[in-house]
Order: sequence, then structure tokens, then C-alpha cells
Amino acid sequence: MTDAGSPYDLVVVGLGAVGSSALFQASKTGARVLGIDRYDPPHDFGSTNAETRITRLAVGEGPRYLPFVARSHQIWAELAAETGDKLYHQSGGCIITPDTPAAGDRWNDFARISASIAADSGIDFELLDAATTRSRYPQIQTTDDQIVGFEPTGGVVMAERAVDTHLRLARGNGAEIRTHQTVTNISVTNDLTTIRLQDGTNVVAEAVVVAAGPWFADLAPPLDREHTYVTRQTVYWFRPEDPEMFRPECFPFIIWVGETPDDYFSSFPMPHGGIPGMKVLTEQFVDRCDPRTVDRTVPVSEINDFYHDIARHRIDGLTSECVKAVACLYTMTTDEHFLIDAHPSSDRVLYASPCSGHGFKHSAAIGEAMAQKMLHGTSTLDIEVFDRTRLVAT
Ligand SMILES: Cc1cc2nc3c(=O)[nH]c(=O)nc-3n(C[C@H](O)[C@H](O)[C@H](O)COP(=O)(O)OP(=O)(O)OC[C@H]3O[C@@H](n4cnc5c(N)ncnc54)[C@H](O)[C@@H]3O)c2cc1C
Repeated sequence: MTDAGSPYDLVVVGLGAVGSSALFQASKTGARVLGIDRYDPPHDFGSTNAETRITRLAVGEGPRYLPFVARSHQIWAELAAETGDKLYHQSGGCIITPDTPAAGDRWNDFARISASIAADSGIDFELLDAATTRSRYPQIQTTDDQIVGFEPTGGVVMAERAVDTHLRLARGNGAEIRTHQTVTNISVTNDLTTIRLQDGTNVVAEAVVVAAGPWFADLAPPLDREHTYVTRQTVYWFRPEDPEMFRPECFPFIIWVGETPDDYFSSFPMPHGGIPGMKVLTEQFVDRCDPRTVDRTVPVSEINDFYHDIARHRIDGLTSECVKAVACLYTMTTDEHFLIDAHPSSDRVLYASPCSGHGFKHSAAIGEAMAQKMLHGTSTLDIEVFDRTRLVAT
């Protein structure tokens, strides 16, 4: 059964960080738009949960990302001005790496690489020694063999609130939203796309943006699937002795890169009114998972190990009381950059999502660019810098 009426100008499949932005931006143009999600976003099952996300303008992952994070900051400011809801907290941020990085290891040298990108782009940035960092932030237990890149313009964004704001404003602009509806197939015939839903109905559209996050492989072209995979990450909140020591006004985010690839730690300042714990996490890229079957529970043993082996050695003033722990999913590409491209046989379907665990800070601008591209054929920011060419050529 196919929906009656004229085709939608744009259907957005997946309404997380990227898709909610695409839907909102498309809705502002007056286009007839529909957003579809298998859950009711924001939710805990994909990649956009766990309260906050780090953002930094001096993106050490490479200069091609810079326009996207800069534009995303503008969009969050615009949303805050429109709604009165502050989405971005400018806390500043510390990137801590070994002072003598392993030769050729870009991640191990992330503080200096970020400093170099900042210098090339006119972004405020300081390289601090460990002692200076401890005098500014006594809570951070740096050692003298480390160097710290400090970006004052960095901070944290309220992740679920950004999704919720996009969807609320999109609805206000006339966008239709269908939740608890899974898209099972997308096909293109006679210049129209047909989106098949789990309940057996079809929706017809001129163009489709697919931003399915960890479920990317369900709908993506086969040639993209082999270059992507999903990993389960765990996030913990430990109650601090004094929460006021960890507010965004006085405490930065931390990205802490150790000597070895699996030695990673990150912490997020605590916005007022949020979860009453300091958010901390590590990363793992070894165990791959399926978003349909992954175990999202976090065992107590995992929580205790993380506190005793890692967290208490990095941040002074955290108690062992874990107020919350959740699982969250990274959608990775094999080179850890992004993948945004059209279906190989139809430019009416544009796919995003594998953001390799660093996509939120760019998501507002990526969603905007995808909406522009599908409605007008071109976008202000060039999303082709993330196309599949580099992956399929390797
Ligand atoms: C623990 C953790 C920490 C992170 N920290 C940072 C950070 O500090 N800074 C940063 O920049 N990035 C960070 N990231 C990465 C960032 O959060 C993600 O890149 C971003 O949220 C991805 O958004 P998305 O829209 O691609 O996916 P999602 O937000 O997961 O959205 C996908 C949506 O598609 C829907 N969907 C899927 N399949 C279908 C279907 N078939 N039909 C209908 N709907 C469907 C899902 O229900 C979901 O709502 C982190 C990620 C994690 C997991």
C-alpha cells in the first residue's frame, strides 16, 4: 500500500544527531518533508545518548572537518536564541598526550597536531606543560611526561536536547514525523524513491536522506557495508565530592591519550541540572557488535574496574559511586573518518552516519548540508570531502 497524495520533497530516515538536523533544516525551506525513525528520538539505542558531547574548533582529525564544526556552533547558537534553551557550554578543553609521542602515531601526537591546525586557522589554542595544567586545574592528575593542548573555545553540547530541539522546531515548521516505524527498503524507479516501512506500507519521495547511525548497514549500498562496523562503548557517571568543582564554568573537557592505542580516557564537565555525576569513558575498537543484539547493560564489575583502574588515577575528587552507566554505539569506517555519499546508482538517496565516534560536533552542519544537497542540488559546505572514493579505492 502506498501513501496517497503527492510525493514528499524529502524523506529523512533516522532522526538522531544528523537526521534530526536534516529534517529541521529542510522544514525551514517550506518543503514537504517527512522524518521516520524506528524508535522515538532522542533515545538510548543508537549513538546520540549519554547527555553531552565534546566539541572543539581545532579539529585534529583534519582540516576538512573545520567548516562543519564551525557551522554547527553557529546553528546551536541560532537554536538557543530561538528557543532560549542553552545547548552549548563553552568550558574549554584539554587534550593530554605523551610529550614524546610514538613516532608516526598521529593520535599519540593529537595535542600538537591540534595546535598546528589551530595555528593555521586562527583558532585560540595553547600548549601547556603538565605543571601549568595542574596549577589551573588541580583536579587533573597529569604527569610531567605529558603535554596538554588547551582550546578555550571548546566545550560540551547537550546531545539529546539538540535532537529534541531539531524535531520540535521541525514539527512547528510543518514537518511530519513518524516514530516506531522501521524502514526496511529504499528503491528508486522512474525518478521517484519508494521507502518501504515495516508495516508493509510505502512512502514516495523525490529524495531521501538516510542517517541510520549504527543501523547504517541495513540500508546502505553493499559496497559501503564492507568498510563500516559498529563497536559498543561504555559511559559512566561518578559522583564527585564537590560538583561545583566540575561545572563547565570552571572545568574543561578532557581527551587523554596514553602511550598505547587502547589507553584512552575522556571526561566531560557537569552542566547544572544534569546527571549528578562526572561523565567519563574510554574507547574500544576491537569487539564489533550488531545494534539489534548488542548487550546494552553495564555490569557492576565493569564499572568498578573502570573506576579503580582508570578514572581515579586521572581525576582527583571523584567518588566510586556510579550514578549511571550506559552503552552507546560507534559506527566506524575502516579509516576512522566519515562516510557520506549518494547511492551509486541514484543521486536521489544520500547516506550518512558512519561518523567513527567523533561525529556529533559536526552533525548540525552535516544535516544542513545534506538537506540542501537533496532539495537544491548543492550545499554551502562541501560534503563530498567525505565520499566513498578513498575507501573503495583501498
Ligand atoms: C559514547 C559516545 C561518545 C561520543 N562522544 C562524542 C564526542 O564527545 N564528540 C563528538 O563529536 N562525537 C561523539 N560521539 C559520536 C557521535 O555521538 C555520533 O557520531 C553521532 O551521535 C551520530 O549520530 P547519527 O545521527 O549518525 O546516529 P544516531 O544518533 O544513532 O541516529 C540514527 C537514528 O536512525 C534510526 N534508525 C536506524 N535505522 C532505521 C531504520 N531502518 N528505519 C528508521 N529509523 C532508523 C535510529 O533509531 C536512530 O534514531 C560519541 C559517540 C558515543 C557512542
